[in-house]
Amino acid sequence: MKASKMLISTLKEAPSEAKIASHILLLRAGMLKNEVAGVYNYLPMGVRVLNKIENIIREEMDRSGSIEILCSALQPKELWVESGRWMKYGPELMRLKDRHEREFCLGPTHEEIFTSMARDLIKSSKQLPITLYQIQTKYRDEFRPRFGLMRSREFIMKDAYSFDKDEKGLEESYQNMYDTYTRIFTRCGLKFQPVLADTGNIGGNGSHQFMALSDVGESDIAYCDACGYAADVEKATSKLDDYKGLPEGEVEKVYTPIDGSIDALVDFFKVDAKNFAKTLIYHDFMNEKFIIAVIRGDREINLIKLVNESGSNENYLRMATDEELASLGFVKGFCGPQNNDKFDIYVDTEIANMTSVITGANEKDYHVKNIKFGRDFNGKVCDLKTTVAGDLCPVCGKPLKINRGIEVGQIFKLQTKYSEPMKCTYVDEKGANVPMVMGCYGIGVTRTLQSIVEQYHDEFGIKWPLNVAPYHAVVVPVKYDDPAQKEVADKLHNALEANGVEVILDERDERPGFKFKDWELIGIPYIVTVGRRAAEGIVEFKDRWSMEKVELSLDEAINKIVEAVKNNK
Ligand code: ATP
Ligand code: MG
Repeated sequence: MKASKMLISTLKEAPSEAKIASHILLLRAGMLKNEVAGVYNYLPMGVRVLNKIENIIREEMDRSGSIEILCSALQPKELWVESGRWMKYGPELMRLKDRHEREFCLGPTHEEIFTSMARDLIKSSKQLPITLYQIQTKYRDEFRPRFGLMRSREFIMKDAYSFDKDEKGLEESYQNMYDTYTRIFTRCGLKFQPVLADTGNIGGNGSHQFMALSDVGESDIAYCDACGYAADVEKATSKLDDYKGLPEGEVEKVYTPIDGSIDALVDFFKVDAKNFAKTLIYHDFMNEKFIIAVIRGDREINLIKLVNESGSNENYLRMATDEELASLGFVKGFCGPQNNDKFDIYVDTEIANMTSVITGANEKDYHVKNIKFGRDFNGKVCDLKTTVAGDLCPVCGKPLKINRGIEVGQIFKLQTKYSEPMKCTYVDEKGANVPMVMGCYGIGVTRTLQSIVEQYHDEFGIKWPLNVAPYHAVVVPVKYDDPAQKEVADKLHNALEANGVEVILDERDERPGFKFKDWELIGIPYIVTVGRRAAEGIVEFKDRWSMEKVELSLDEAINKIVEAVKNNK
């Protein structure tokens, strides 16, 4: 392949909106072109990497026994109404109408379509189990698209859906996908970790996320070195600590003419933040009601846990506004759970475990001491806190650590969440219609691409692992118009190509330094320079990862690259 014909479009500087290394490098290396926020076009080098990742995914999915199909992005509203998600999905769903006022969405995911597919096409229980997959474009109207392909509004996902007769079958299908994902991310070269996950909008009762480890990740992972427990912080729990709070006593009202923040209270009462109960009032728009959450003063609430406990939806749960608080009879900064039985109250396990707490008196400028769960207020006891480093591992009790990760994939046990409402059933031995038991499995293909760059780059550019590199090698003649150099460069290029190496010949009439910078930025693993020793049959071989250079004979260079590529397959 000749470099002059390849639409190489490297940039000296990335546009200023690119903030993280991988985004900057993908733009600078001419792999992507941005048109509007969160929407990207893939340029020739980018497409080649994308194809490599897709091929790895396809090979491993096929190996797992899954069957490939391809569905439309455009989905009719009716299927989403059937599943109950037309309303629940919230503003991320790209909704549109055709000229006849019929409503559609651009699929953010395909549970509805695949369930409808199985319902219509699977005629006999003998066809079960089956796992169907596709590699296809998804649309999500993300509130804040950012970091390039990491959170875009249009992206490529591999999504798969398994259909089983029973729970036991689902367990097997799920494990099969877990193992398949492990092989896929390993082949992509990623450093990753599977973690326990919340099921979010998708639903169901068991899930893992696959996290590419990276400081720029948007997910926090709580993990335990001692026993291997690992969970997304949205999901992570911890062993209850044994803090009991202040000694028991009579309820006592205290004049507190301060702003009611935890810092001000700590200052005022001269006790640790752990001794206060934060009383948080939420407006649940889905069920049109207000609910109360109570957590320890040193804790932050985990909204996902509250959503799961209260049966609300994260798109429909907001903190009550000042006006709402006032209309409910609360005083901002002085709220307490006592005397509020008309609300559903969710009480964190730590609060329920304490002898007494200090909380708002539901009266301006007053707090109350010696408030006790079970005596002065009640509620559903549940885990609501955000897990932090140092909390105790729920499995072995050792202190947890926190790491950052990029969610590149997620797998869910859906069970009958979609098959039941959508009547996707099979006929069992007794002649009864039984809902199929489903799982769903997603990989962010374009997010995976960028995560690889985030993990593998240096000051010169991208360092693609050989498996996903756009090309394996590039031959760079210093002066292509020098007959000896031309002859060696052509020979090298042709020999490599004939031996299955994806190779570029950089015959562009540019300074050698300019050419090297391009290939280092683009991240081609092997760069071979044909220069002044060409006539002796000697070339310079550079490994992009180590940046080490050695002089080799033409045959040695060919063998080295051909072997490396062969061993990598
Ligand atoms: P996130 O929590 O990051 O918004 P999600 O949990 O909503 O992601 P899933 O519904 O599990 O995403 O989708 C499967 C995979 O698709 C994710 O694991 C992720 O790799 C990818 N993905 C999701 N949203 C985006 C996006 N906006 N841009 C790029 N990839 C995405
Ligand atoms: Mg997810």
